[in-house]
Amino acid sequence: MAQISFEKLGQDGKARTGVIHTTRGDIRTPAFMPVGTAATVKAMMPESVAATGADILLGNTYHLMLRPTAERIARLGGLHKFMNWDKPILTDSGGFQVMSLADLRKLTERGVTFKSHIDGSKHEITPERSMEIQALLGSDIVMCFDECPALPADRDRIATSMELSMRWAKRSKEAFGDRPGHALFGIQQGGLEQDLRGQSAEALREIGFDGYAVGGLAVGEGQEAMFGCLDYAPDQLPEDKPRYLMGVGKPDDIVGAVKRGIDMMDCVLPSRSGRTGQVFTRAGVLNIKNARHADDPRPLDENCACPACTKYSRAYLHHVFRSQEMISGMLLTWHNLRYFQDIMDGMRQAIAAGTFAAWEQDFHAGRAQGDIEPL
Ligand SMILES: [Zn+2]
Repeated sequence: MAQISFEKLGQDGKARTGVIHTTRGDIRTPAFMPVGTAATVKAMMPESVAATGADILLGNTYHLMLRPTAERIARLGGLHKFMNWDKPILTDSGGFQVMSLADLRKLTERGVTFKSHIDGSKHEITPERSMEIQALLGSDIVMCFDECPALPADRDRIATSMELSMRWAKRSKEAFGDRPGHALFGIQQGGLEQDLRGQSAEALREIGFDGYAVGGLAVGEGQEAMFGCLDYAPDQLPEDKPRYLMGVGKPDDIVGAVKRGIDMMDCVLPSRSGRTGQVFTRAGVLNIKNARHADDPRPLDENCACPACTKYSRAYLHHVFRSQEMISGMLLTWHNLRYFQDIMDGMRQAIAAGTFAAWEQDFHAGRAQGDIEPL
């Protein structure tokens, strides 16, 4: 079995399109990965997630190690079988969520100890343990264990953290070992400091990975600062490997990241918003709970081919949201995921055709319209 490989099919400016070949199928890039935190993309059947156009989804190591545990999932045949998803899965390392969710965290050179946010039980994640958990889960793309400070942070803190993450990256690579058919991605750190990002990229190149993530962004710095960093950070990483921007984002974040050379992204936004009534469309964002939709027989987005748009009216979606019916979260999540995948598809085609700038202009012009006028 071969390792995963990245085939670049086209480039327009810095924007790239291609395919990541894996033993579980191809991932078309730029790719958006829906988040399946607890072995499910909430409110969606796996076949529905695939029907939105997703080639890969993301699982969260932190959640799965606590419940139902990686060992149990391994005994039951691995995460793909457990959750009935046979396409590729990427798992994060657990580090980011330990920092954002767990109690009583203690960080040392060895790793992180913490208490579960579910039942208060004590756990440890080290680079070696993170590799073990991700192997038990059977994920196709494994992420290095890293540490990421919230921004803004001072330069010394960012430098110290980046250097620790690079030592952990080396330990992750050693612990990952030789696993044919599985890939290990390194994670660049360095906050918004260009030279630290450069040092981090150099350290990662020296270790050698199957792909590279730009980590430590989308942690409160704002879009302008994030784009400022993305103006140079992807260029510091190997050109012939996939580049993954973790935890991003809103539709215009995604488009701006791809424009700057990013190939993969993930975010809970489309699925989480689907459960709170926030809907992303080609004409901007709307909230289905607003009274203006109560008598509106029109679809959410007349150019969308998803079931929520082709089979249901705004009036119905408004009603089931107000009535707290489960189908509300199901349909709105489906729509949002489909819209995000349509953006990716539009970008892939535009990059291949060399028309990305025109596509981007249309994208922004459409979204600037705001929602259609009320009836
Ligand atoms: Zn739709």
